Amino acid sequence: INFKSASFKDFENIPGAELGERAAYFAEYLNYLKSESRLNYRFEAKTGCGPELELNIPGQGGRRSYVSLVSNDYLGFTQHPEVIAAAIDGILQFGTGAGASPAIGGHYSFHEQLEKKIARFFKRSDAIVYTTGYTANSASLLCLLKKEDLAILDMAVHASVYEGCSATNVKSFLHNNLDALERILIDAQRRYRTRMVIIDGVYSQDGDLAPLDSILRLCRAYGTYLMVDDAHGTGVLGQTGRGLIEQYGLLQEVDIISGTFSKTFAHIGGYVIASRDIIDLLKYQSRQHLFSATLSPACMSILKAIDLIDEEPDRQEKLWENINYFSAGLKALGLNIGNTASAIIPVKIGDPVLNAAAAAMLLRAGVYTNPIMYPAVSRKDARIRMSLMATHTRTQLDRVLNAFDDIAKKLSLPKENYEKSR
Ligand code: PMP
Repeated sequence: INFKSASFKDFENIPGAELGERAAYFAEYLNYLKSESRLNYRFEAKTGCGPELELNIPGQGGRRSYVSLVSNDYLGFTQHPEVIAAAIDGILQFGTGAGASPAIGGHYSFHEQLEKKIARFFKRSDAIVYTTGYTANSASLLCLLKKEDLAILDMAVHASVYEGCSATNVKSFLHNNLDALERILIDAQRRYRTRMVIIDGVYSQDGDLAPLDSILRLCRAYGTYLMVDDAHGTGVLGQTGRGLIEQYGLLQEVDIISGTFSKTFAHIGGYVIASRDIIDLLKYQSRQHLFSATLSPACMSILKAIDLIDEEPDRQEKLWENINYFSAGLKALGLNIGNTASAIIPVKIGDPVLNAAAAAMLLRAGVYTNPIMYPAVSRKDARIRMSLMATHTRTQLDRVLNAFDDIAKKLSLPKENYEKSR
């Protein structure tokens, strides 16, 4: 393997290399990346939380403060006193762990409350809760789609969806391309028992949105189920924070809604919302639900976070003030932020080496971001990915914009002509 052009994916399976050899070879690759300052995973152990962090990052001159743009705690609920109190209350009432999987005694009153509450939040009646958002997708799809069936995926769906489709047939279409989707639907019509289109509401790398009404129309025309993972839209989009599906007025129409408690809901866990029969099928047949311990009592914080979306709507408003201010600032610098229409804001740089240099310079300027490269995005599509929170202050955002201004000049970052593209 040529280390210079390699990616982590190339080490997933090396022909002829036994496990120990593969691990040793991968360790060599990690050392190479470190020596080139190209190891960009954010594994530094953080000792704080929120929009500004005190971190001690090796090579960055000791402990200092960074504006953090890596958290999906969009409304800032992880730091909300009432959310924290609800988690503590859960622990005081029930202890620290649920102690078993759901079918053998690990299903508690707070799990039941959570399932009812999240379903009701989306104006529906039935939900199942999983221990992560990742499992909500992977476990439910593994249970629902088998080898006679077909999953039709937008190419940019989350990794958990791909994993969930490993026991069924998969066709994927170019991101948000309705013609490509329709071609698959026509071709698949009578050839598979169950067909399901699976999309994200907000896409996690570009922050752009699915054309939900058109996709639902196609699903109806071709007798196909629709599942929407709105992990990044919930709390951010929609008049009352119910996400992209609310924005389109389709909460009753989408067959299956999935999502996570790890972003706006400020905890961990995931959910699937569907008809009573489908939820029962998952409860009794989805193996990761049946044979894995349930969420700990601290998840009672999620009950409070759900209430707060309605009780403190000004948080969503503040988040949008931040999104609009920050996007306008980056555009004024001529930087390419793509088609984002959410709290995820990429600055698209393209070349991975230039991207890594920009991320390193941002760190030096006290700005903590995620450099994203292949295979999370295609090879020439590297970007700096940022998530905004309602609790970022104007001063913090200005610090980030100033850093980008400086770095864009020093590195001659690619410019987007917004006048022309309009
Ligand atoms: N879906 C999407 C679109 C995501 O971006 C993520 C995680 N970032 C997940 C699902 C998985 O959620 P979790 O991290 O809560 O497991």
